[in-house]
Amino acid sequence: MANQYDVVIIGGGPTGLAAAVYTGRSLLKTLVLEQSMPGGQIVLSAAIDNYPGFADGISGYDFAQSFLKHAQRFGAEVRIGTGATSVVRNDDGTFTVGLSDGGEVIARAVILAMGRHPRKLDIPGYDRLFGSGVSVCATCDGAFFRNVPVAVVGGGNSAVEEGFFLTRYASEIRSIHRRDHFTAQKILIEEYLGNPKVQPVWNSVVEEIYGEKEVEGIRVRNLQSGESEDLEAKAVFVFIGWIPNSALVKDLVRLDDQGRVLVNELMETGVPGLYGAGDLCVRPIYQLANVVADGVQAAVSVEKYLESSGQSRH
Ligand code: NAP
Repeated sequence: MANQYDVVIIGGGPTGLAAAVYTGRSLLKTLVLEQSMPGGQIVLSAAIDNYPGFADGISGYDFAQSFLKHAQRFGAEVRIGTGATSVVRNDDGTFTVGLSDGGEVIARAVILAMGRHPRKLDIPGYDRLFGSGVSVCATCDGAFFRNVPVAVVGGGNSAVEEGFFLTRYASEIRSIHRRDHFTAQKILIEEYLGNPKVQPVWNSVVEEIYGEKEVEGIRVRNLQSGESEDLEAKAVFVFIGWIPNSALVKDLVRLDDQGRVLVNELMETGVPGLYGAGDLCVRPIYQLANVVADGVQAAVSVEKYLESSGQSRH
């Protein structure tokens, strides 16, 4: 007989761990499945400066570790290195969750908190040189590129924030964006463009990343003139948005045209007992504080659902 839980939370990022703190405190038997690192994408942040209450900021890694401890303190079982491979709703209203280790568990309710992964640039050189100069994480790879020119692609908060982080190391940063302005928060843009190492390249897209074994340069096309030029860059940091990790549940819940899970304000997916929360879902904003709040809401909704559906706890 498969192990049984009141709630299985798929994803151990801030959303899933926040949910686990609350379900644990409600004495629900809770399993969190995290296929790689607890903390998810936030682990890649060098410094979190906009999470209210942390006046001096905190590193993504420290934040994630503290979050993990908090969830475990209230009894959540966190399986690190184990992902979910399937979610099936059974006739009795419970769910069978298949595990990447070959096992399965039964849950009375499931919270989907799988988050999202970075979008790729579909150009020659991207895949071939990924890990050899092509990167989606300045915090992870920035220090390898000291005193050399690098390129940053994208114009949102990620590009501007991560690009600014790279000013610590690189000699110059060609910041390539397809518009004539960045769309990040104003304070971030001011800080970024105020740094003399940063050279914006507006109205432009990268056509190719070249280099034998490592990145040596990029070909950039100006969308207005149609002309292309080669720029020297020893690394290309790409921050062009995200793709939700919703494939697991694409046949179970409603998705929008970008593949994000549709939920209401109670984090209900429309399938009784199945909740979605955080970056995986359609949300008004994607800030750490509100995706954490999503996890809390999903946990409270689960608790009410289990009470009202008259299912006894494990
Ligand atoms: P984003 O806001 O979706 O921005 C993606 C950027 O990539 C845009 O500039 C977009 O240009 C560009 N882009 C998309 N596809 C492209 C392509 N194929 N080629 C070239 N450029 C392309 O993504 P994000 O910056 O990662 O932010 C995601 C969410 O996380 C946002 O809600 C953001 O506010 C939040 N976030 C917040 C913080 C913070 O508060 N400190 C930090 C990071 C992220 P267009 O504008 O032309 O589409």
